[in-house]
Amino acid sequence: MHALTVELLRKSYGAQEVVKGISFNVAAGECFGLLGPNGAGKTTTLRCCLGHVEPDSGAIRLSELEIPRDARAARARVGVVTQFDNLDVHFTVAENLVVYGRYFGLRERECRALVPRLLEFAGLTEKGDAKIETLSGGMKRRLMIARSLVNDPEVLFLDEPTTGLDPQARHLIWDRLKSFVAGGRTIVLTTHFMDEVQRLCDRVAIIDRGALVAIDSPAAMITREIESVVIEVHGASMPQWVERHGRPVAARIEIAGDTAFCYCRDPQPLLRTLDATRSLRAVQRDANLEDVFLKLTGRDLRD
Ligand code: ADP
Repeated sequence: MHALTVELLRKSYGAQEVVKGISFNVAAGECFGLLGPNGAGKTTTLRCCLGHVEPDSGAIRLSELEIPRDARAARARVGVVTQFDNLDVHFTVAENLVVYGRYFGLRERECRALVPRLLEFAGLTEKGDAKIETLSGGMKRRLMIARSLVNDPEVLFLDEPTTGLDPQARHLIWDRLKSFVAGGRTIVLTTHFMDEVQRLCDRVAIIDRGALVAIDSPAAMITREIESVVIEVHGASMPQWVERHGRPVAARIEIAGDTAFCYCRDPQPLLRTLDATRSLRAVQRDANLEDVFLKLTGRDLRD
């Protein structure tokens, strides 16, 4: 069963087509990631899925409801965590949860009954009476996630859930999101962090300039799209070495700043030429999702 299906979605703002016929499905119980450079169309796609933006064409089904026609009913079944905290600073932590539940038509008593479990989920049990301004960035984000669960959603949408957080806070949030999916629920998230995708996502779609350029599990994408080994080479004589020795033996070389990223299926010939060139430093590693991302979307800066 699919929690979300998107078929040939198109959306323009003025003359600029920002979503150009994107299609994908998200299975129930799956954690699905949308990756893409800034301006790729991720947020617009999500906003269309939630019925906040009307598509020009295409078909969307969310929680078995047609969007935008049944968007209100669908939104009652989903949770949304925006990138920027929009907690109400006039209320305490617990009151924020209660007020949010009231938006979903829950009675005050029902909302209050949910608070201990939501606080526990977020690791904020001790903070129920705290004012919002006393919370750290990680606590606020956990509270946003807890708040999004107030209506017991089938699908949770998260826009960059860990941007701006320290490693401890990110790990805690990943742990919470994993436990949400382990309960059979579905997550759709956008992120710029490849480690987040590799830890959390069953499948990922890479979007660039409004089009879908790849969709698969992170591991399958790495195997299919890219050579298995990367050797990063630095040093004053790197440009000469690349032209004379690197290019003839590497499958592909990309230069960014003072580093040559040499992609190889068999690293041995390249390592031998490096042994003979003392002035260079080299680090060998396995190819990862970031390599795939940069190959498919390029190294140029976006807006
Ligand atoms: P992403 O989330 O991948 O960074 P967005 O979906 O936010 O990308 O934006 C895609 C493109 O659409 C960008 O060029 C952005 O400037 C443009 N855009 C987004 N929202 C609007 C809007 N409401 N009006 C006009 N242009 C918009």
